[in-house]
Amino acid sequence: MPDDAPKMTNPHATQGFATRMSHAGRAGTHAHGFVNPAVHRGSTVLMPNVRARKEFAKDRYNRVMTYGTAGGPTHYALEDVICEIEGGTRCVLVGTGLAAVTVPLMAYLKAGEHCLMPDSVYGPGRNIATGLMTAYGIETTFYDPTIGEAEIAALMRPNTKVVYTESPGSHTFELQDIPAIARAAHAGGAKVLMDNTWGIHNFMPFQHGVDVSIQALTKYVGGHSDVLLGSITTNTEEDYLIIRNAAGQMGHFAAPDDCWLALRGARTMPVRLKHQEQSGLAVARWFEGRPEIQRVLHPGLPSHPQHALFKRDFTGSCSLFGIVFQPRYTEAEVFGFIDSLALFGIGASWGGFESLALPTTGFITRTATSDDLGGFTVRIHIGLEDVGDLIADLEQGLATLPK
Ligand SMILES: *Cc1c(COP(=O)(O)O)cnc(C)c1O
Repeated sequence: MPDDAPKMTNPHATQGFATRMSHAGRAGTHAHGFVNPAVHRGSTVLMPNVRARKEFAKDRYNRVMTYGTAGGPTHYALEDVICEIEGGTRCVLVGTGLAAVTVPLMAYLKAGEHCLMPDSVYGPGRNIATGLMTAYGIETTFYDPTIGEAEIAALMRPNTKVVYTESPGSHTFELQDIPAIARAAHAGGAKVLMDNTWGIHNFMPFQHGVDVSIQALTKYVGGHSDVLLGSITTNTEEDYLIIRNAAGQMGHFAAPDDCWLALRGARTMPVRLKHQEQSGLAVARWFEGRPEIQRVLHPGLPSHPQHALFKRDFTGSCSLFGIVFQPRYTEAEVFGFIDSLALFGIGASWGGFESLALPTTGFITRTATSDDLGGFTVRIHIGLEDVGDLIADLEQGLATLPK
């Protein structure tokens, strides 16, 4: 078996991850012998006769092509690839990663019910909880992402229907004890939703008690900063139908051209991810040795407070992490550092081939925990550039800071 074979993976998969990413989703895609499936754009799907129209309509979520919104061959290929990445059984594709966050929340929660959400949730996920969900009579309690089974159990109410998770947390990188949280959630009759965008295939959600896994395919699967797309993957047919019905009722759809771009990205994702993981760790370790930096927020480093969970549950990391400057540095000085960088773009999103730096301090909301990390914090994304060049650029950037 190739040495990159994930340790914890789809029980049906015996081959390495890169092998499976090269071959998944290519059977039965009407490609007429071409390696890649075509982009099937379309609204109308013509039926052979009127009776067929009536028959097909009953089965519209079961890969029967009845209308554009029911999906077509390009969607099915990508759905298979995503199930292969996460070890799931069914997948629903939606137009953005954010829609992949909001659709399952709306699918499992209704007026009078309660949701638990980690304080380190992706910001727009917090916005729907405090916005539309509140307006629709759904209450959310934000919890410290690092709490375990007993503390989650204590927060559960008879009407708690969703325990949302994201590990590591957006910008602050706390890891969650997902199996412990899932035990408490399931004991109380709630579903466990997880945003697994950082973990991708390095965390296998369904082997740790997750019911519904969310991915922003916009990140490493797309991989080239040119597509927005989200996936919602389930372990059971029952959960799939709940999600598929909700997405269908709200008119969610993933554009076939975007699915094609994500398929193209997925073929090289294992190689890019491995390279970026190594470069990310090299840069993170380099930052740890710098006197200007107080600490580095990277779950793959032994200095991370929940590194034991990382070693237990993850088979690797991606290339997104945080750096906390020494408290003596002001916002203006850190902004000067970021502005001085030649190879790091200043922009949201991550997972592309290019490096990014983005301030965290002042851009995040925390209500159950403190947003003070002890110094000005910057989120770093490491791309595919040569790591020596990235470090040289960062070194000249740190040199702009007062001693
Ligand atoms: C980017 C991101 C999303 C949303 O993805 P979009 O495609 O940009 O809407 C969701 N979750 C996490 C953790 C993200 O970083």
